[in-house]
Amino acid sequence: MGRSAHCSKCCICGKKKSTHPGTRLHLFPKDPRRRLQWLQALNITYKSESQAVCTDHFDSKWHACKGRLLNNAVPNSVDGCDEQGTDTYQGKM
Ligand SMILES: [Zn+2]
Repeated sequence: MGRSAHCSKCCICGKKKSTHPGTRLHLFPKDPRRRLQWLQALNITYKSESQAVCTDHFDSKWHACKGRLLNNAVPNSVDGCDEQGTDTYQGKM
């Protein structure tokens, strides 16, 4: 993999290391099942290996030392930006 076309910015909020020096970007897990967990939590589709998510989307409980994530870390779920009434949602299980 000799590609240098890494677009290292968060695929959720668009933060880049260049504009937000404190931001750490995390690539998606290689494990397909774990990757799917991330995608479902973030409500996005997987586009490329260089797709990354910044630290902002992980609960502090997932943070291991030195800015790394725990192996079982999953991003906080994104439920859309609009917080409208939930009365249209009938909690059927
Ligand atoms: Zn982000």
